[in-house]
Amino acid sequence: MNLTPGDVGRLARVGFGRGARVGVIVALAESSELPGERIKPVEGVRRDLPPLPPDWFRLMEFCASYYQTPLGEAMLSALPAALRRVDPPKARAGRAGKPPAAAVAPELTAEQRRALERIAADGPGFHAYLLHGVTGSGKTEVYLRLLERTLAAGRSALLLVPEINLTPQFEARVAGRFPDAGLVCLHSDLAAPARARHWKAALEGRARIVLGTRLAVFTPMPDLGLIVVDEEHDPSFKQQDGMRYSARDLAVFRARDRDIPVVLGSATPSLESWANAAAEPGRPARYTRLTLEERAVAGARLPAVQRIDTRGEKLQEGLSGALLEAIARRLRRGEQSLVFLNRRGYAPVLSCPACGWVSQCPHCSANRVVHLADRRLRCHHCGAEAPIPRACPTCGNQDIHPFGQGTQRIEARLKALFPAARVLRLDRDAARTRARWEALLATVAAGEADILVGTQIMAKGHDFPKLTLVGVVGADASLHAADFRAPERLFQQLLQVGGRAGRAELPGEVLIQTEYPEHPLYRCLARHDFAAFAAMELDARQAAAFPPFSHQAMLKADAPQLAAAVDFLRQARQLAARHAPPTLRVFDPVPMRLTRLARRERAQLLVEAGQRGLLQDFLTRWLEDVRALRAPRDLRWQVDVDPLEV
Ligand code: ADP
Ligand code: ZN
Ligand code: ZN
Repeated sequence: MNLTPGDVGRLARVGFGRGARVGVIVALAESSELPGERIKPVEGVRRDLPPLPPDWFRLMEFCASYYQTPLGEAMLSALPAALRRVDPPKARAGRAGKPPAAAVAPELTAEQRRALERIAADGPGFHAYLLHGVTGSGKTEVYLRLLERTLAAGRSALLLVPEINLTPQFEARVAGRFPDAGLVCLHSDLAAPARARHWKAALEGRARIVLGTRLAVFTPMPDLGLIVVDEEHDPSFKQQDGMRYSARDLAVFRARDRDIPVVLGSATPSLESWANAAAEPGRPARYTRLTLEERAVAGARLPAVQRIDTRGEKLQEGLSGALLEAIARRLRRGEQSLVFLNRRGYAPVLSCPACGWVSQCPHCSANRVVHLADRRLRCHHCGAEAPIPRACPTCGNQDIHPFGQGTQRIEARLKALFPAARVLRLDRDAARTRARWEALLATVAAGEADILVGTQIMAKGHDFPKLTLVGVVGADASLHAADFRAPERLFQQLLQVGGRAGRAELPGEVLIQTEYPEHPLYRCLARHDFAAFAAMELDARQAAAFPPFSHQAMLKADAPQLAAAVDFLRQARQLAARHAPPTLRVFDPVPMRLTRLARRERAQLLVEAGQRGLLQDFLTRWLEDVRALRAPRDLRWQVDVDPLEV
């Protein structure tokens, strides 16, 4: 079939092997070096869709080069699955949901007004802002006002959030404010036809607001005038397989490329963004920092944070007397408490005191977790499960014990201690579907639960007016974790989850159980002092030359045998010598911390450079050689640029 220049950017169906594939028309060529018989005709072009805009191609090319991925693969991960199918399913008209009730905007606080004025003064071109606002300071209201301006200027906006499913309130809030903007959502839990339909609405310019998770950063939007990344610190903005992109970083690239503003918002910014918002000697700040220090609702204060020293105390299934007393006080006052423990299940391990057997996963270097609710042992890494044995599988001892605490165990204990209270567990096991999660949130919001036991899924922006106590259990484990980002994550989680307490007229309290009450991380937390924490962490990172003071890439390999994976990386390391400038560090291959995952042994090799450009040049040349290595057929390898876990 004949193509015209107007087809560039369209999807096309082309013969491939014996079948056909969907491709993207990147350019038209007059001639080819290939012999004519090897060139296949284009079988069909999706002229029912507008061509993908040029900036979408620039974004893809950037992804391909920055994340060291073939261009075709990058595009593939950016297109909704339904559009990649050769025979796309017949598009059904979307169910028209009930139109949201229009909501009125509140009067802005002085801080919100100042932030908005600053952004307005900079005009519509590229600027990156870091909106640092304490929990409940009204960051969302700032986004909504920016959306309003953007729409009024005839442009559209892209709003990225970590996990839509966890925050149905957020979607309702945006839809309620802009009932006529054709808001669409894009996230991976959406059924394929709906996702294709929403994507198409964006491409055709009908959807003026796109709200989505990390994959939405690839949405083609012809009139894009603003990008917002809410909770910009959240690790879920980083894709963890295939092309390992950071949607937050791509958002900034895209805004610069389109010459539009981008706003990164958080109560606990990533240290990368925090450093970008600070000037350095000889370099102005890359991002403009805007601060909201007060809660937006009149009279609402930040919670009082106390540390409970648990040294020398005999805890009741991990719960201290002081925390239990505080919960009892809330019960008497008809208020809600949340016990935060970032560990699902009943206990992390089942073990036999007689012979030392533990419930190890047969496929991973991890223990299977005891789930008493459905009487299973379940691996949280590969999902493998089995019934809980009645006796030790090794020695037959019937007296085997669950060790340590998970949310189910805390839940059971609280039910036993407070028989009259309504105890509700909120973790991924309790909230398997979006409907289930929404029902749980509604129960809490209606005041039909007294004590909540929750994991970090409770940390995201929920508003529970009666919740006045957050008890933190088991946080110390993260203080001494091997990952250099562990303290940053812990601080983020605790500050966010603590932010759930006392949002309305009732003052909140956060109690942190710890054996290290004087730890500087907890001290900063007690003062709500993110800036002090960030300064301390950044000093430590600088001393160790960790990001953001260096740039990293990780070559990962996995195979049925560890030796094969390590050997491959060793060969890759030898190849590196050819390309590596002296200032670039190529470390020895090492087994990953969770070495064995789903029956595959995993190893990694870290590369670190002082400058991003240096690293990028090196990776491009080096990986070309690595691709030419002859690897065993059952070995897989990937590269992760700017890895989150090292
Ligand atoms: P954040 O996103 O910073 O955590 P939100 O935008 O969710 O904060 O705002 C927290 C609460 O404050 C919400 O209940 C919101 O409706 C309210 N709020 C925000 N801005 C204002 C304002 N200017 N006046 C009154 N209430 C506000
Ligand atoms: Zn035993
Ligand atoms: Zn496993």
